[in-house]
This record gives sequence, structure tokens and C-alpha cells, in this order.
Amino acid sequence: MQGSLNKNTILPTRSIDPVIRRRLHISGRVQGVGFRPFVYRLAKEMQIGGSVWNDAAGVVVEAQGTARQLDEFVAALRTDAPAAAAVREIIEKEITPYPNDGRFEIQHSLRATTPTAEVTADLAICDACLAEIRDPANARRYRYALTNCTNCGPRFSIIRSIPYDRPRTTMAPFAMCRPCRDEYEDPADRRFHAQPTACRDCGPQMELLDPKGSPIAGEPIEGAVQRLADGKIVAIKGIGGFHLAVRADDQAAVLRLRKLKHRPAKPFAVMCPSLQGVRRLVRLTPRGEKLIASSAAPIVLARRNPKAAVADAVAPGNHRLGVMLAYTPLHHLIFDEARKFGIESLVMTSGNDLDEPLVFENDDAIDRLGDLCDAILRHNRPIQRAVDDSVLIDTAFAPIFVRRSRGFAPAPIVLPEACDATPGWAVGAELKCAVATYRDCQVILSQHLGNLTQSRTFDAFKRTISDLCELFGIVPHWIAHDLHPGYLSTQHARHLAEQQGLPLIAVQHHHAHAAAVLAEHGLTGPALAVVCDGTGYGTDGSIWGGELLAVELTDFRRIGRMRPMPLPGGDAAARQPWRSALALLFLAHGRDFVKLPICRQLTSDPQIQFVSQMLLTGTNCIQSSSTGRVFDAVAALLGLCRENRFDAEAPATLETAAAQCKRLSHNLDDSYGLGDAEGLIEIDLSPLVRRIVRRAQQGVAADDLAMLFHETLAAAWEAAVAKAAQSTGLNTIALSGGVFCNELFGDLLETRLQRRGLRVLRHRQIPPNDGGIAFGQAAVAAARISKGLCKP
Ligand SMILES: [Zn+2]
Ligand SMILES: [Zn+2]
Repeated sequence: MQGSLNKNTILPTRSIDPVIRRRLHISGRVQGVGFRPFVYRLAKEMQIGGSVWNDAAGVVVEAQGTARQLDEFVAALRTDAPAAAAVREIIEKEITPYPNDGRFEIQHSLRATTPTAEVTADLAICDACLAEIRDPANARRYRYALTNCTNCGPRFSIIRSIPYDRPRTTMAPFAMCRPCRDEYEDPADRRFHAQPTACRDCGPQMELLDPKGSPIAGEPIEGAVQRLADGKIVAIKGIGGFHLAVRADDQAAVLRLRKLKHRPAKPFAVMCPSLQGVRRLVRLTPRGEKLIASSAAPIVLARRNPKAAVADAVAPGNHRLGVMLAYTPLHHLIFDEARKFGIESLVMTSGNDLDEPLVFENDDAIDRLGDLCDAILRHNRPIQRAVDDSVLIDTAFAPIFVRRSRGFAPAPIVLPEACDATPGWAVGAELKCAVATYRDCQVILSQHLGNLTQSRTFDAFKRTISDLCELFGIVPHWIAHDLHPGYLSTQHARHLAEQQGLPLIAVQHHHAHAAAVLAEHGLTGPALAVVCDGTGYGTDGSIWGGELLAVELTDFRRIGRMRPMPLPGGDAAARQPWRSALALLFLAHGRDFVKLPICRQLTSDPQIQFVSQMLLTGTNCIQSSSTGRVFDAVAALLGLCRENRFDAEAPATLETAAAQCKRLSHNLDDSYGLGDAEGLIEIDLSPLVRRIVRRAQQGVAADDLAMLFHETLAAAWEAAVAKAAQSTGLNTIALSGGVFCNELFGDLLETRLQRRGLRVLRHRQIPPNDGGIAFGQAAVAAARISKGLCKP
């Protein structure tokens, strides 16, 4: 209760400046980030009375003082907020002041009506904790690898259920020691209500094991670093799972990791201890630097420095390098030790074999990683669910999400008000899968799950759906899925729907992509959309992938496409770009294409004969308007990539080649055709293919031709969009699909469309690839239900 002195009567100034009270609703990332203790300290400092608590939407403050005091207080809430917080909005409302309310209190959280505000993403270590683990005078936390506070540490990866409280996290078995308990209960302390807080005396401990699981004597971190220094592979437990680590400057060690992990070519990410270290490896934009140093601490792909001290085998033949900063205390302690051996960066790749899901449990680490490493560095703080590192590309325009996972999931993404519907699920696509739950105009997009055709990943997919529903208390009324009847996600949706008596809502693949962009920007359409990706099931049963749509959240109309090409051998064409190359030559040159000398550079004579028979007779060929296959084909024609050893390797080689080329102002008008087929605007790249074949024979460099391809494709789409904009009157263009992970093509097209005065929308919060499909499905389904177009 308030003390006996009444300041109002003592201080005469109060009669001039009357005391008022305001209720502040603060939204944004304000829970689980030390926001309430911050408000408490600020209020004390500024002598403001009132209280603070969490509610469903964020944080609520009641503040009492003079108008001037309150104005300053509100301003400081924005400017001085903890590093991990992000204040989106403060809504102020004046309410009746309490008599004599000089004391400020933190109230217990009211049980949130929607728990989305409570479960926040995992956070990178903060500066204060980093200083503590390096301070020899700090007996309890010096070199303690699991240090954290309200501003940093694990969240999503340790929460078992809500409300977010220690007994409902994986830290439950660790009883706090007296000093930790004191910190936890002191509103003025940085660790006030820090659920995962711990110290050397009471918290989880590190251990180093051999690959069979037997403990290795000695200090665990020193032992691990000694092995890394010797070029050995060490499995290291992080926030959301295990990494496999090896020196990034040791070619033989990196090659050995590739062999053991069955990953011959796909680039590895590299971790550095500091921003200075990162700058030595890659060239980041100022925005990219902010991103990599943010509390999400993602992997950022940026143009590599030619003198970067990393082995060629880390990212062979790629103009970019994926880099991240050390984001746990353990990472920093490893680098502090590694510096003694001159190690400045480490390859840190997901702890798994090839396409399997990330290993995150201690026992699993021995079973599944034992054969891939020489030692295992782990601790006994359990991880509740696997959360991979997030990946973004740093570009001149805005970062592009390649994978949205740790540090971002499960932050809700808000949909337009027109998406007000009953709660439900969306199961996503099949590759790069993520699932989503919907409730109250908010979508929770899950962490990255991966390729569902891998049986362990499919199991993780099934677990994640029920996990998210339990965590966020969602009882689904509907299930949204892809139109493709063969996707494992579709089949599972059918199974669940039958089991639980729920209606299914099918969403066409490219509609989901396009709708996702609109919804992310708070729009419902109508708009035009260019969706370029690998493959997706069309409404006519054929395979789409280069689509021009007139789109609303609820529905779409196809108005243009890439000219379909036959894919000889169907799925085999996705693995073997030379097949698509032969198909493009067939379209461009007709039946005699086999006589072109360039065919001999693609593959062997018997294979040319075999595939040309398929093309000439149409047997075993799938017609597809895929853009991804065109990238494959051109990469093969230019001799850059004949086989895809990992997803989208050929398109990556094509972009890397083009990035080496100085921008040329080609005359592009003759390089593509814009036709009309079955009432659709159709882009025909046959003139470009003939031009590339001719120029390649004349000895023009592959880099220049790769740039010609990118520029032509952008010019062709610009022309198609211009035509559609004129006929429909729509001048907002959404760009989506996996091909928009290609920075060069995306930027070329965006620039061209903007120059025409068109409004261009691109993804900012989710990936343009299939990792964003579940979000789009949820938006479409909710919009349809909201409009009464389907009944949940
Ligand atoms: Zn901290
Ligand atoms: Zn303790």
C-alpha cells in the first residue's frame, strides 16, 4: 500500500501541474524480453506511479504523474527499450487518476486470452551477459556457458507449455540456488523473471563425449577447441539443435565433413565471433550488419570478400558466403579459446545427415551424429523442439528470407481484417515445408521443417502441427492444404480432416504464394502477381511455375504464363538440368535440334538419343510452365551445371555467373516473344535460346550470357505485366515464388516495374519460396471463411 505522506499536498507545484493517469497499450516484441522490469526501473527513476502487466496483445502500463512527466516517460519507453524489444505502437488513453498513487508495481500476468504474445522467439546473448562470462571476478557466471537473462537466451526452444513460467520449460528440473532465486525475484534485477536463468552452481553443465558417448576427461570447451584446432569435427549443442563444426580455413577438414555428411556441394555457413570478423569474410550492407547483429542472429548470405580466409570447399563456386555471429555464451567461450590457435571462423552446419531433420536431443546426438564427428560437446539443458538457423540474403533493396526459423518463429504475422475467421491450420507444401496455425487474424508460421519425403522430417511435420496447437491453445475448425493431391502434406491433411471431422480448404500453390505477399502487406487485392518457382499443381492438372495471376486473397485468375515445355522423364528433369536444356533446344530449334553441336556438350550420345525420342514422341514428358526448369536449362546450356547436387544448384550457378558480369545494355527486344495462347499472355524464350546457342558458339563468355538471360527474363515479364496492367487496370504487382530468392532477377524486374510507375510488393517477413506457402494458405482460407465463401 501507499505510504502515509501525500506528496500532492506537500509540493505546491502540483496545484499548477495536475496529476493525471494514462493507460498505455504497448504492442510489438515486448514480452519475454525484459520489458516489464525496464518499465519498472524507468518509472522509479522518473517518479511515476502506477503498474505494468502483460496482456494478450503485449504490455499494458498505467502511469500516473504530471502530463510533462508522462510525455517524457512515454518517449523513453520507445527510445530506451531493451535491445531485444521492438515497440511497434503505444496507444494512450487518459483514465481517472488514483489518489496518492506514487508507487509503481509489476503485476502478475493476467492469463492471456491468446497466448501468441507469450511465446517469443529465441534470442542471441546480450552484451551484459557476454561481459559477465568474460569477467573472472564474476564467480557464478565467469565462463559459464548457459548464462542468460531477460534480454537474451532460449525461449521458443525450451517452452513446454504456457503460461511461460519456469516449471513449464525444460529448465524445470534445475532448482535455482539462493543468489539466482534472489535475482529472479528482484524487480530491479536484469534477471527478474528470467525463466531460463541459471549459474554455474545450480544450472546445466557442459560435457565432452567421444562419438560413442563416453565422457572425455578435462575441461569440455578446451577439449573441444583442441580437437577443432587439429582439424577434427565436433558436434556442438546450440539453442535449437546441434551443429557440426570444423575450422573454416582447413580444406581437408571441410572436405571430410562433406563426405561424412553426404553433402558434396551445398554451401556451408560460417560463424564468426565478431562483426569485424564477419567484415573480413563478406561485404554487408548497413542493413545486413544490423540484421546479423540482431537478437535473431540469422545466417546472412552476402557477397564474399575475395581474400576471405575460408577454404574453397566451404561454398564452392558461389559468389556469396553465409555468415552468422556467435549467438550463445557457449559459442563465445569456444571462440575465446579458439583465438589461441588462430581460429577466426568455424563452419557451423546443421547437425544432421543430408536431408534429415536437425538433431536436438542428447541421446539422438550419439546415435545420429556419432558417425559424422570426432567428439560431441553438449549440455544437459533439454531442447523442447528443433529450431534451425534462419537464413536471409543481404541485398541492396531489402533482405530476402530463404529460411525463417530460429529468432523469428513463432512470432505471429498479422493478417488484414478481412481475414477474420475461426481458428485453423495450414499444412504447407512438400519441400522446404513449414506449417501454420491461424487465430484472430494472426498466423503463427512454424520453424523450418524441410523435405517431407524424408520420413524423419515427415514425423517432425506431424509433431509440429500438434505441438503448435497445444502451445497456442488452438482448436482447429478447418485445414488448408495445397491443391496437389500427391503431396504428403495434402495426404496428411485428408487423414486429419477425416479423423477429426473437419472441412478441407484446397489452395492452389501459386495463389498461396501471391496471397502471402498481399496478406503480409495488409492487402486483400485485387492485384497482379508474378509467381516464378519450381513446380506447383495447376487447376488444369498440369504443372505450373511461371505464372501471371490476377489475384485477391479469396480467389485468382490465371492471365499469363511461361510457354510450357515438355520435361523429359518428369521428376528426373529436376535433378538433371541437361534434360531441360534439350527440351528448350527442341522448342527453339524444332525436330533437328539434335544436330546442334551444343547437345554433345550436355550429355552422351545415347542419352541424347533416348531423351530426344521422348521429346519427339511426347512419351514420358510432363508439360510445365516452370521458371525453375528454365534456369536449370540455361545453366546447363552454358556449361555451368549439368546435374543438381542440391536443390536449385543450377540456378545458383547461373546467378553467380551473372554476378561476375559487368552490367551490359543488351538489346533485348528480339530475345523473347510475347504471344497469346489459349487466352493467356505467353512468354516465349525461344529467340533467347537461339541467341545463346549462337553466341556461345562464337565464344562469348558464359558470365555475359548468364546476365543476358537474367535481363531478358526480367524484360519479358515486364512486358507481360505491362500488357496485363493495361487490360485489367491493376497497377499493384506482387512478386513471389522461389525464383525471387534470386537477387539479380528480382531486382531487375522490380526496377523495371517501378520505372513504369507500378507499385511492387515483395516478401519482407516470410520466404518467397515454399517456406511461405502455409502462411499464404492460411490467409486464403481465412479470407474465404470470412466472406462466407466456405463454411468451416
Ligand atoms: Zn543477457
Ligand atoms: Zn544459480
